[in-house]
Parts: sequence; C-alpha cells; structure tokens
Amino acid sequence: MEVKVAELRVKSALTPSRLFDYCVNPYAGCTNACVYCYARFATRFSHPGERWGSFVDVRVNAPSVLHRDLRRSRPGTVYMSSVCDPWQEPEEHYSVSRQCLVLLLESGYPLFLQTKSVLAQRDFDLLAETPGVEFGVTVTSVDSGVATIFEPRASIPESRLRMVEEARRIGLRTFVFLGPLLPGISDRGDGLRRLLDQVAEVRPHVVFVDRLNRRAGMWPDVAEAVQQLEPSLLPEYRRVLFSRESASYTAELRARVAREADARGMLERIVWCLDW
Ligand code: SF4
Repeated sequence: MEVKVAELRVKSALTPSRLFDYCVNPYAGCTNACVYCYARFATRFSHPGERWGSFVDVRVNAPSVLHRDLRRSRPGTVYMSSVCDPWQEPEEHYSVSRQCLVLLLESGYPLFLQTKSVLAQRDFDLLAETPGVEFGVTVTSVDSGVATIFEPRASIPESRLRMVEEARRIGLRTFVFLGPLLPGISDRGDGLRRLLDQVAEVRPHVVFVDRLNRRAGMWPDVAEAVQQLEPSLLPEYRRVLFSRESASYTAELRARVAREADARGMLERIVWCLDW
C-alpha cells in the first residue's frame, strides 16, 4: 500500500486525554496500518473514505506549539501517543516525536510511551535512567505471519519485545500491552501460551490485557485480514464482536489469560483493560 505523507501545522499539541492527563500526537494517521486500529476515528473528517494506513499528516510545528503549551499547563502525565505511533516510519525522517520528547523530558512531566516500532530505540539516549518514564510496546500475537497481516508495517513482534528488555536495562519502567488479543489466534491455546512465554522472557513491570472490541470502521479491515489468514475463524470474530455472547467471551478470556499468566508467575503484574 502506498502511503501519502503530508505536512500540517497545528494550533495545539498538548491536549487533554481520557486515559491520562494529556496526550501528544505528533502525527495524524499511522503508517503501521493495524487492521483493528481504533484511532481511525480521529481522521474521519480530514481523510474521509481513505484507507487507514494509506496516509499520514506530519504535525511539523508540534514541537514549537508544545513548547508554548507546556509553559501554560499544569503538570500531569502525558501519553504519547493516543491516536498514532510516535515512532512510525515518517519519524525516521522528520524526528517530530524526538523533538517533542526532548521538551517533555525538560518539563519533568511523567510520560507513558507506547509503540510498535523499533525506531523508538533511537531515542533511548534521551530516556536512559529517567524517572517518571514508562515505556512499552503493543503485541497482539508473536506469530510474525499473523502480525504481517494484522499490523502490516509495524516492527515484528519479537523485535518489539526485545526493545522492552533493552528499556529495562537502561532503567525505565516497562510494560507490554497485549491488545487486542486476537480471537482464535492469540486469545487461547497455543497462540496465547507462546505469547505469554515470550512476554515472560522480557520481564516487563506491567502487562496490560485487552480484548477485541467493535469500533467504528474497523470491521471491514478485520474481516479482510481474517479471511486472508484463516476464513474458518470468521464466525468466531462475528460472535465475539456482534453477538450477545460478547460479555461471556470477556469472562472466558479473562479466566484463560489469568490461568496462563499465573503459571508463569505474571498474574500480579496484569492490568485488565477488558471492561470499557
Ligand atoms: S500502531 Fe496504534 S495507532 Fe498505529 S495503526 Fe496500529 S493500533 Fe493504530
């Protein structure tokens, strides 16, 4: 898929967030192109009808605007990023996230940094031994064939997890976000066991667990990916997303993950994100 990159100027960079006090999004759109991505709602007016992952707007003046916003704001935790991957492909050229990071670190605000891109490791020189920084990666399956279909332009899962190990080594508090666990792929059986085995190996401080939820606009891309990977799983995806059994699926998932996490001594590190 070809990606259209455009440069854009913004009026604000430090915005209030539902999950944390603030979020900073140096990009609008995301070249990682995850098929289940919930962030696509954020570009529904600026890029109507365009395929998710096929465009990205670089907020080229985000660092200078952030500099101003930080001077005017009260201290609070900053999430980078809520609707894009701050280290997605264009960051290699633009370094907008890196410039924002420099300012955020100067501010001393606590940071929650989340990515699927190994480019983040470029900025470990800034982050090393910094208190108040949580760094983590999202992984939905450790099968690279699955990741290629569901997260086509993100770094391979194994490299993401190795980055967590490195983040620990440089003194950061780390997390792995397991979400969404993919029905029939990584939410049960061997797929779940292999995922938790590899997560246990890199010893994150916290493990978040999330399920696949129905969000505006994601179903056609998810259905296409499932069709490509294993068409016999489509009824299960419909059951999980659209049927009355959706709530019981959540309870079953929680029990399965708890059992496997407990077997690996990780249960007390799990934070459940299943109830929203
Ligand atoms: S990395 Fe995050 S924001 Fe980017 S496409 Fe994937 S889920 Fe969406």
